[in-house]
Amino acid sequence: MPDASDADRDALTGLHGRKLFQSLLGQAIDSARQSREPVALVHIGLDRFKVINGTLGHDAGDELLRAVAVRLNAVLRVGAPVARLGADEFVVLLEGQGDHAAIVDSVERLRVALGGAFVVAEQEVFVTASLGVAVFPEDAATANEFFANADKALQRAKHAGRDNTQFFTKEMRGLDSSRLALERDLRRAIDREEFVVFYQPQLDVKSGDVLGVEALIRWQRPGLGMVPPMEFIPLLEETGLIVPVGAWVLKTACAQAQQWRADGIVPLRVAVNISASQLRQNRIADVVEKVLAETNIAPSALELELTEGLLIENTLASSQVLHRLRDMGISISLDDFGTGYSSLSYLKRLPIDLLKIDRSFVRDVLSDSADRAIAAAIVDLAHALGLHVVAEGIETQEQLNFMRSLGCDAAQGYLIGRPMAADACAAWIKAERSKAVVPTDDGPAGPPTLTDVTPGLRVP
Ligand code: C2E
Ligand code: MG
Ligand code: MG
Repeated sequence: MPDASDADRDALTGLHGRKLFQSLLGQAIDSARQSREPVALVHIGLDRFKVINGTLGHDAGDELLRAVAVRLNAVLRVGAPVARLGADEFVVLLEGQGDHAAIVDSVERLRVALGGAFVVAEQEVFVTASLGVAVFPEDAATANEFFANADKALQRAKHAGRDNTQFFTKEMRGLDSSRLALERDLRRAIDREEFVVFYQPQLDVKSGDVLGVEALIRWQRPGLGMVPPMEFIPLLEETGLIVPVGAWVLKTACAQAQQWRADGIVPLRVAVNISASQLRQNRIADVVEKVLAETNIAPSALELELTEGLLIENTLASSQVLHRLRDMGISISLDDFGTGYSSLSYLKRLPIDLLKIDRSFVRDVLSDSADRAIAAAIVDLAHALGLHVVAEGIETQEQLNFMRSLGCDAAQGYLIGRPMAADACAAWIKAERSKAVVPTDDGPAGPPTLTDVTPGLRVP
């Protein structure tokens, strides 16, 4: 191994730097060619490192990175090449593994080592990592290709969710070109007006009244049908295209709300999802103000949905923007609540009106006692703070009944209605509202319940 000069070391963690690592990688490839023993390159990305940095501060972030380096070294044999590449990205070279099964074993040990609790800034934090692995010689012919392919596997692992390992596969070879094609088509989609907004209804679970709708973008990609947002929103965010597209969704949804009002479908609140880059861009409040003026809808008819991670990343700036939006009379809701790196203090500090319990808790609420406890705690917490609670992803009558029994205020999900094109949604709302509540012999009718107004929905 060559002597490492300072420039070859990562100052923060003491691990190898990129240059030294690359030269070791070259040597490893040369010896693998001779020994015919496979070498594995593991790209490791820490999940949600930004959030930890943002919540606990940069010193804590640095402490965590040093602790990660120590854990990596503890799993690897002494002197194994391991480097830090970017802020929260590491690479490890696994040599002398013998065969594939041994590589899989070692990679799993790396993943598990990074998954436990770390103590930084005198607090316990839980970290997970995404790992991408390429194996030489089968996955690559050159050092550059080897490096790039392990990175592609990491990108795939990150997309697949947290705490995940992906090995490079032949299908990933086309990843770059298909990504470029997707980006090119997305840029054209704006000009060609291929985006559409669907609307999914939300019901008041006590009165059964339609409270509003959530605007959800779809892409009618020529030849590929209706593409769901999770397949293109990440790329819109990466490329910055989310800013114009997000503004378009906002305007379309507000114009639709105004049209519905003109058609006599009132009152109706429309909720629009806002992504991190839109909020970071400080102009969001100006954009909203302009759209409200152009479409002439009341600010109280607009709700903006944000996700937890987005707020924690930059709490102070977010707080200023949110206060400005709130002062305009817009409601703010926290989407997918419970899935982020929950730091509850921001619930107190930020002007939030509504929490949406993520559907991952609702899904098994009847069978999983932990989900039940979480859902119940979220409802109580929200109510104690004066916030409304919406249960997302209600698919069965039993889930609806249960969430109502916990005290949820509103519900959204396939049981009530799927996201629909604007016309279909208007027809749905009209049909829903036209169902009159018939007084019974027992006395005057109370507020309408879901049974009264929604076919197929039963109140226990
Ligand atoms: P979200 O804001 O949490 O929206 C709810 C998602 O859950 C929607 O998926 C909806 O179709 C789905 N859903 C609703 N009820 C049920 C149910 O009962 N069961 C199941 N399995 N799913 C249900 P969709 O439309 O695919 O959107 C996914 C995500 O994409 C949204 O999650 C939101 O984060 C994002 N998104 C959608 N439209 C926009 C947009 O215009 N701008 C931004 N920034 N993000 C958007
Ligand atoms: Mg949403
Ligand atoms: Mg959600």
